[in-house]
Amino acid sequence: MAKRTELSTRHGSCPLPVFLPDATRAVVRTVDAQDLKRCRVQGLVVNTLHLTNAPGVGLIKSQGGIHAFMGWDRPIISDSGGFQAMSMIRENARYGTITDAGIMFRNVDVKRQPRLKLTPEKSIQLQFDLGADVMICLDDCPRPDADRQEVAESVGRTVSWARRCKAEFEQQVEKRRLSEGERPRLFGVIHGGYDDALRRQCAERLLSIGFDGYGFGGWPLDSDGNLALETLAYTASLMPDPLPKYALGVGSPEGIVRCVEMGYQIFDCVLPTRDARHQRLYCLDADPSTPFAYSFLYIQDEKYRRDPRPLSETCDCPCCTHYSRSYLHHLFDIRDPLALRLATLHNLRFYAQWMERLARP
Ligand SMILES: [Zn+2]
Repeated sequence: MAKRTELSTRHGSCPLPVFLPDATRAVVRTVDAQDLKRCRVQGLVVNTLHLTNAPGVGLIKSQGGIHAFMGWDRPIISDSGGFQAMSMIRENARYGTITDAGIMFRNVDVKRQPRLKLTPEKSIQLQFDLGADVMICLDDCPRPDADRQEVAESVGRTVSWARRCKAEFEQQVEKRRLSEGERPRLFGVIHGGYDDALRRQCAERLLSIGFDGYGFGGWPLDSDGNLALETLAYTASLMPDPLPKYALGVGSPEGIVRCVEMGYQIFDCVLPTRDARHQRLYCLDADPSTPFAYSFLYIQDEKYRRDPRPLSETCDCPCCTHYSRSYLHHLFDIRDPLALRLATLHNLRFYAQWMERLARP
C-alpha cells in the first residue's frame, strides 16, 4: 500500500516525513512561534507531564488551549509522560511508583506539584484539555537494560493502558461531540525492548485495539550508544501501512535517514536545539551530489572571530541571511541571549531542510 504523504490534523497538514522540534514546556527554548514559522517548522511536540506541572493544564485550557496559549496554529503532538516516568522513577524510586493503576509521581516539582497521579484515563483527559492534534497513549517504558521479565511486564501494562486510553479517548470524542474530521488522532506505542517476540506481541495486541498511528517505544539506542537499527526496522515492519509511523526521540540527521528507509515518517528530538545552545551548528554539504552530508561548525572556534561568511552557504535561515560567523562568535563570546536564538534558528532550519530533501521523490 502507498505510503502516506501527509499527516492531516485540525491545525493543517504536515508533509511527511517530518521532524518536529520539542516544545516540552510549550516553548522551543529561546525562540517563538513566529521564529519557528520563519524556519518552516511544520509542527511541535509538547509534554503533558511537564505542562501539568507548570503552568497547569487547567490554566492552558482557560487560555483557549495549547495552540492559542503559545501562539502556534500548526499541528501539535502531545507526549504522555510515560518516558519521563521511566527516566525519573525507574532511576530513582523517590520520584514515585508505577503500578497497573497508573503512575504516581512524587517530588517532581515540590513547590507546584508535590504529587501527581497519572492514569491512562487522566493522561487522555489532560491531552484533550490541552487541545493537542495528535495524542500519545500512556505507556510503560522499561529501562534500556531491563531483563526479559521486566520488558514482558511493560508490554502487558502498555497494552492494558492503551486499551484504557482508547476507551477514554472515544468517550471524550463523544462527550465533546467531535466529528471524524474534528477529532484528534491517537497513537499507540509499541514496546518490547530489544526482543522481537515481545515487540511482535505488543504490536499485534495494539493493532487489535486500533489506533490512528503507531510509535516506536523505548530507548532507540543500543548499549554502545548506536541506533538500535534491527529493533527499529523490525518494529516498523509490524506497523500497518499507510498509518503514520513515529520514531519517538530519533534523532540525529543520519539516524533519521536510516529510519525513513525503514518506513518511519515522524521524528522529534532535542538535538538541534540543545546542540545550538552548546554552540554546535549543523551545516549541509554544499555539493548537490551528496544531499545527505553535513558537518558540524563549532562557532566558538577562534578561526571564526574574523570570518565574514554566513554559517552555511546553503542555509536561508534568519541567522545566515543577515549575520556573519564573526558576529555570532562575538555574541557567544559576550554570552548575549541573541546568540542562543540565532543558533537555534539555524539548527532548526537545517533540520527542516534535511526533511525537505528526504521528502523529494
Ligand atoms: Zn542558517
